[in-house]
Amino acid sequence: MNRADGCGKILILEVGYDDGDEIVAVHPVIIEDGAERVLVDCGYPGGLPELERAAESAGAPICGLTSVIVTHHDFDHCGALGEIRQKYSRVRVMASELDAPYIDGSRKSLRLEQADARASMLTPEERIGEEAFRRTVESVRPVGVDVLLHDGDTFPWCGGTEIIATPGHMPGHISVLLRRHRTLITGDALVAIKGRLRLANPHYAIDLGMARESVKKLAAYDIETFICYHGGPIETRLSDGVNRHFFR
Ligand SMILES: [Zn+2]
Repeated sequence: MNRADGCGKILILEVGYDDGDEIVAVHPVIIEDGAERVLVDCGYPGGLPELERAAESAGAPICGLTSVIVTHHDFDHCGALGEIRQKYSRVRVMASELDAPYIDGSRKSLRLEQADARASMLTPEERIGEEAFRRTVESVRPVGVDVLLHDGDTFPWCGGTEIIATPGHMPGHISVLLRRHRTLITGDALVAIKGRLRLANPHYAIDLGMARESVKKLAAYDIETFICYHGGPIETRLSDGVNRHFFR
């Protein structure tokens, strides 16, 4: 589902990643309007070539990027940021003020803090998987953030692009609303599974209660399409019965 009308284009990319067991797909999004080409989330460490191929075939090559918005500092969302910055040095990096210290490396990743907290509870077998997870998280290169984003910040792209703070999965998590298109780029505030919206794996939520509150907050916005990084685009409304489980 790629959209183009009088006010810009929304291009949903599909980037594959080998997680050891299977190839999983994630969905970075390019917002294009006039001279602006803005990528929302950028995939895994080492994933730049795949991202470049996906963007090229969508007709929006990475060499023309002006900015990258990072929804939060998980390795599958910002892993390729260091490679992008190295190869395309004029690209601006934008992230929430709360997440920036983790992206630029001035604070330890909350995923590593979370891993530290559960380390003593792991079986020897689980520890092997955990070590691989840690290595992946630690392989993400720190990158300076050029533009600090806040709840309600609005850009003119695509008829009005608004940053919505959606904390919970991580405290600095943001989602991106394309108002005119009634479309939300969810990051990990919501995922699509079998045609339904869900919370991202609760196991990884830094504050699950806050993640639920963020979904309730999103219900106040006029949104018809959710572009989920995990699961792709889904047309639904948070008020639809199929999504009632969020509001029990
Ligand atoms: Zn995440």
